[in-house]
Amino acid sequence: MLCRMNDQSAETRRFDVVVIGAGIAGATAAAHLAADHRVALLEAEAAAGYHTTGRSASMWFLNYGPADVRALTARSRAFFEQPPPGFAPHGLAHRRGVAFLARADQLAELGRMLQTGAGLAELSAAELARMIPALRPGYAAAGAIERDAFDIDVAALHQGFLAQLRARAGVLALRHRAGRIERRGGLWQVATSEGGVFQAPVVVNAAGAWGDEVAALAGAAPIGLIPRRRTGAIIDPAPFAVQDWPLIDDVGHQWYVRPEARTRLMVSPADETPMHAHDVQPDELDVALGIDRMQQALAIEVRRVERSWAGLRSFTPDGSLAFGWDAAAEGFFWCVGQGGYGIQTSPAAGQLVADMISGRDPGALAAILLRIDPRRFFSHSDGAGSGGSAASGGAGAGVAASGGAMFLPGAAACSTAA
Ligand SMILES: Cc1cc2nc3c(=O)[nH]c(=O)nc-3n(C[C@H](O)[C@H](O)[C@H](O)COP(=O)(O)OP(=O)(O)OC[C@H]3O[C@@H](n4cnc5c(N)ncnc54)[C@H](O)[C@@H]3O)c2cc1C
Repeated sequence: MLCRMNDQSAETRRFDVVVIGAGIAGATAAAHLAADHRVALLEAEAAAGYHTTGRSASMWFLNYGPADVRALTARSRAFFEQPPPGFAPHGLAHRRGVAFLARADQLAELGRMLQTGAGLAELSAAELARMIPALRPGYAAAGAIERDAFDIDVAALHQGFLAQLRARAGVLALRHRAGRIERRGGLWQVATSEGGVFQAPVVVNAAGAWGDEVAALAGAAPIGLIPRRRTGAIIDPAPFAVQDWPLIDDVGHQWYVRPEARTRLMVSPADETPMHAHDVQPDELDVALGIDRMQQALAIEVRRVERSWAGLRSFTPDGSLAFGWDAAAEGFFWCVGQGGYGIQTSPAAGQLVADMISGRDPGALAAILLRIDPRRFFSHSDGAGSGGSAASGGAGAGVAASGGAMFLPGAAACSTAA
């Protein structure tokens, strides 16, 4: 069991970093930071991963998302294939390709994907039919496959990072919703629903769909995060044996299906309905839409929907990530906007966030720092950053030039964890 703090009401505890949100974003950042900081990870729910992290399609594939996401996806691959010894009880990655189907009217889109994508092979209609026996004759004019993709064991990944946090003397506080976040005397005071107060010079906002709400609690301006609902439903595709099928994606991303638990299929209409942050539930119309779109392509009879769910994929206004110091609130670090890629980018993202906060050179990932800087959403930003030093904004050159200096505001007062 991870360390809980439910019986420490009104106690004030001091840390180097308080991370808000124990989904995959907060868990990976907290685990990496705990290597050399005292870290508290606060989670509003009784279970870490209750929201979007526990509701994903669990895939890693490279040809997805903007350039910053692709860089982190690529950088994360080695971790999934070879996690550190003892990190998880079994392998995290299980090979599964991603096949993209293009109707005749989508061939131009397929052409663009093949031209700009990485690791893609073109497939003829005949090759697709051999790979996907349920494919309706005449539906796909051509396609492509990313063979080197894989399923991720998300639960093992998430639990592995939470265990790493514990092993590094970090604290996970479940049922601790951050309610009041104030800065006094160079320290954030985070008061939670359980009555405890967590103090630290740095707060990391990894609250997923609630990112703008957490910023408002801290007096920081919102960046305009847009939580978008995505729906999944589980069906029995019998008589088809789908275990070895690839994930099948419409090249225009209007629907997809993915084998689930050996004999089932997850169907999604790839919906992106904007909504406020909450415990989102599936809409029956979206479930029906997903099945209808799938059935135009695949001759699969659906007798009943065994289970359906929805999760909120949260995007910044330009679709790229927002990792970095706030423009005005000192010591307030954003780690939001993971969209539909938060799992596959998480190992490298957690390391990058820890490097940025610790003032370490992030190596090749320095190339994406300007693109993911949250200060791009504030026109009044002077570019100086608010992490406590001129370099702490982390915009590329600042990090590389820092020579490994601590970027923590009030760093002199911060002891590092043993
Ligand atoms: C249907 C679907 C399919 C997907 N498929 C994939 C995929 O194949 N591959 C992939 O990489 N990604 C996929 N994603 C996206 C991925 O799941 C997300 O990008 C990722 O889970 C986001 O993680 P997070 O930690 O930012 O958010 P969350 O998991 O939502 O975590 C945020 C946490 O913050 C907590 N919180 C909020 N406010 C407070 C507060 N005030 N105090 C304390 N805690 C708070 C919440 O309770 C929550 O637990 C999919 C998503 C969906 C919905």
